[in-house]
Amino acid sequence: MAGPELIRDTRAWQAYCREARRRGGRVALVPTMGFLHQGHLSLMREARRLADAAPPAAGPRLALASIFVNPAQFGPREDLARYPRDLDGDLAKCASAGIDAVLAPEPADVYRPDHQSWVEVGSVAEGLCGASRPGHFRGVATVVLKLLHLSLPDVALFGEKDWQQLQVVRTMVRDLDLDVEIRGMPIVREPDGLALSSRNAYLSPEERSRALALSRALFGARDRAARGERDAGALRAEARRVLDAAGLRVDYVEIVHPETLRPVERAEPGSRMLVAAFAGATRLIDNLALP
Ligand code: AMP
Repeated sequence: MAGPELIRDTRAWQAYCREARRRGGRVALVPTMGFLHQGHLSLMREARRLADAAPPAAGPRLALASIFVNPAQFGPREDLARYPRDLDGDLAKCASAGIDAVLAPEPADVYRPDHQSWVEVGSVAEGLCGASRPGHFRGVATVVLKLLHLSLPDVALFGEKDWQQLQVVRTMVRDLDLDVEIRGMPIVREPDGLALSSRNAYLSPEERSRALALSRALFGARDRAARGERDAGALRAEARRVLDAAGLRVDYVEIVHPETLRPVERAEPGSRMLVAAFAGATRLIDNLALP
């Protein structure tokens, strides 16, 4: 199988994408931090499908991915230096998902020494992970805006695994009039319920089994809500008990409006429950829609 074209230079990438756009092509982009798993690959296969859905007469149909561990979204005490990386393995996986080209730039190319422009998204970025990780969404919004400008995609795909990130990106795209469709994709899980994450590689076998409490807490709340429990406080308290009992250190357990991310007191259909907790030193997140 021919691998995807690897482009390291952002200017070369911009020229490549601009040419596709000029020729009337359809471009789908999947931004990632690499160390790819089946969650990423589900986005990439959908990108392939969306690009190929363009009318036959149109220009090139490109399914593109970026692999960039974005320093701007890591706090000073976070795992930037040890974040797992495997470019060769990732390129093979991109090939298997039908990706045409991959941008894998150096940090110094993305953030030149005098970089001084940042994207701040408001209230949707302030609670939840935004509260525990100051500056995180500023880094995310900035790099996503840069990737969208460099790639000029018709559609960009993001996982619901990072629900708040998806809403931050949607809000930025709306507020700044970006001409791109943002497509959210369902969370891919292990058979036992654990949401796939590159950070799962950090977990010892014992931590991994304790980490199952995140999805267990969410599924439990979903079942209770399906049986008629509407009180967000009661649903959150029970989820917290599940996380505590597994020996996880809870960062937050919240039930929010799915788009504004404002906390709700009564869980309505579509309300989103989000959890973040530490298994050892590893911070994990998960979420689902309540029935
Ligand atoms: P990351 O490499 O962690 O920045 O993730 C890149 C993209 O893949 C983001 O849009 C994530 O939300 C998405 N993603 C990560 N894990 C999963 C998963 N388990 N299921 C679906 N999408 C995911």
